[in-house]
Amino acid sequence: MKVLIDEQYRKFLIGDNLDKDLQLDFGVLSKDQLNAAQNGDVLQSHLGKKVFVLDASFVDIFEKIKRGPQIITLKDAALIAAYTGISDKSIIVDAGAGSGALISYLGNVVKPSGKVYSYEVSDEFIKLASENIKDLNLQDTVIIKNKNIYDGIDEKNVDMLSLDLPEPWRVIEHANKSLKIGGYFVAYLPSMTQVQIFVSALTKNYRIEQIFEDLQRNWIVRGQIARPESMMLGHTGFITIARRLY
Ligand code: SAH
Repeated sequence: MKVLIDEQYRKFLIGDNLDKDLQLDFGVLSKDQLNAAQNGDVLQSHLGKKVFVLDASFVDIFEKIKRGPQIITLKDAALIAAYTGISDKSIIVDAGAGSGALISYLGNVVKPSGKVYSYEVSDEFIKLASENIKDLNLQDTVIIKNKNIYDGIDEKNVDMLSLDLPEPWRVIEHANKSLKIGGYFVAYLPSMTQVQIFVSALTKNYRIEQIFEDLQRNWIVRGQIARPESMMLGHTGFITIARRLY
């Protein structure tokens, strides 16, 4: 996929093999012009407007993924990856796949040698998440399984377990058989009452590394203006990170 940036620095994501010309605010660009365009090219629309071409980055595509269930946002996904130290050798088990947002991010971190196995009970969301994973070209790294994780985990010697579902405490017993010693157990929960239940259910063989939420406030800096944006992405979820000791 490619990104087009117009003279107002607005961003448009387009596919690689268009079968129609593209008409946007900046005018028309022909399909031949667009299909042949390379990273760094500067095109001219029929109105004489400049359009910059970039190869789409992971983030450009991630921002446009199709959404069903509420996704884990980049700010949270990034901190989950940061505080669990996952790398291209990591084996991750996740549930539920949902829209596939968190598993795409994790897959992008652990590719090409690592793997992400994600459990999902809904056929509809398996389809949605699989499409998003394919758009990000992560199908060799991220494997979605039509299984209920409350029934058990097939994988062993897992480096990190991430759960974004209502009752993560129902997975603790399974985690004890799957997570490797020193592995990280992450629960993403919207409500503190769920965090309390999860933390009190965790057995003694886990050390709570941290429990946090993260609020990202972006700023506008333009000429004399330098202020926070009026809207912010505030509370999304609480992240609990525990580590298996034995
Ligand atoms: N983290 C995802 C969103 C997950 S939404 C993202 O970033 O896109 C929660 C998902 O968990 C839903 O799709 C739901 O179908 C699934 N789910 C709920 N309970 C489950 C279970 N026991 N096993 C597997 N999936 C489950």
